Amino acid sequence: MGRLAQTDGLTDIQREILATVRDFVDKEILPVATDLEHKDEYPTEIVEGLKELGVFGLMIPEEYGGLGESLLTYALCVEEIARGWMSVSGIINTHFIVAYMLKQHGTQEQKDHFLPRMATGEVRGAFSMSEPGLGSDVSAITSKGVRDGEEYVLDGQKMWLTNGGSSTLVAVLCRTDEGHPEGTAPHKSMTTFLVEKEPGFGEVRKGLTIPGKIDKMGYKGVDTTELVMDGLRIPADRVLGGETGRGFYQMMDGVEVGRVNVAARGCGVAQRAFELGIDYAQQRQTFGKPIAKHQAIQFKLAEMATKVEAAHALMVGAARKKDSGQRNDLEAGMAKYLASEYCKEVVEDAFRIHGGYGFSKEYEIERLYREAPMLLIGEGTAEIQKMIVGRRLLEEYRFQG
Ligand SMILES: Cc1cc2nc3c(=O)[nH]c(=O)nc-3n(C[C@H](O)[C@H](O)[C@H](O)COP(=O)(O)OP(=O)(O)OC[C@H]3O[C@@H](n4cnc5c(N)ncnc54)[C@H](O)[C@@H]3O)c2cc1C
Repeated sequence: MGRLAQTDGLTDIQREILATVRDFVDKEILPVATDLEHKDEYPTEIVEGLKELGVFGLMIPEEYGGLGESLLTYALCVEEIARGWMSVSGIINTHFIVAYMLKQHGTQEQKDHFLPRMATGEVRGAFSMSEPGLGSDVSAITSKGVRDGEEYVLDGQKMWLTNGGSSTLVAVLCRTDEGHPEGTAPHKSMTTFLVEKEPGFGEVRKGLTIPGKIDKMGYKGVDTTELVMDGLRIPADRVLGGETGRGFYQMMDGVEVGRVNVAARGCGVAQRAFELGIDYAQQRQTFGKPIAKHQAIQFKLAEMATKVEAAHALMVGAARKKDSGQRNDLEAGMAKYLASEYCKEVVEDAFRIHGGYGFSKEYEIERLYREAPMLLIGEGTAEIQKMIVGRRLLEEYRFQG
């Protein structure tokens, strides 16, 4: 472990968990990641290993069979995993968000039913807000749930579901107008449905189709899909929290912790890019000396390391704020924005240090170069983070006259 991205004040248990995860990443993920990524192959063995380590239940309370760890522990584990392969952190990310939403907002019956099996990784979560016509503007969703006796009938099309094929539980956001008078604000007429399904593609449940994997530029291995609901019948007791009209807030709460998580992924990818860059710079010779001895390359390494440190510090601060029970939307927005932008820049600098070899698929940096852009978009784009941060700043620093 290098000097960068250290975290002060961790407990012995946190240090032990992190050391175990880092060891797993070094032995089981890094040696196979690039090959699997190039084949766009699902990392089944890695996922089984992570189940055994208890990573799928890291933040699920002990009473439901999880490890009951903090957001900070979780984020630091995600950072380690993303350092190995960003796609693997994506496999646990949506699971973690759904488990978090259940823990925070689920009825007792829903928690009892899902959380113990989520802790072991037997039930695997995905969450679905985005549609073909919208991503940033969640309040514009058109998928609908209409009450019919003791059930809801769901219709609509969803887009960009991470783990859409491999998951068995999807938290789906739909519009439900029932009980809400006309003119109700759009975000107050949304409901999260807990949709259980078989893993795989095609018609995975009557009225529910997962058409197939979207072919992506990077972030391969993990399946990203559409989801089509056509008369999908869901029992009324599978409304998250048992009450309609609360879905928007539940999803935003989930995405807020998800943002710390995406920041952590940016930190992990940036760290790996730095490691690759500093190694290569000491091996490659030009003009009679290793390129690391040229000041221009040293400056690049200094800038990269500074960005790795700054992003890590902001991410840790955002996680700790949430763990202390305080609202952290400002900090999570800042951390997600900075970590994803810095990640892209550090990866680009490591790529440049590699010269022409960075362009070859034989070098790991080529994979990172295609992975970093996803972090600029997922869990809200840079513009959306800046809108959140800007609004919160104006609340905090209200002009007193
Ligand atoms: C690989 C991948 C996995 C994903 N996984 C999931 C998932 O699991 N679940 C899920 O629900 N979604 C998922 N998403 C969707 C993701 O959250 C959206 O792509 C993202 O929120 C952006 O939405 P959009 O693509 O519709 O872009 P748009 O909202 O159309 O935005 C296009 C551009 O306009 C900018 N923009 C939009 N509104 C404003 C504004 N008001 N002011 C200034 N600029 C603005 C944006 O920043 C962006 O640059 C995933 C996306 C990808 C690529």
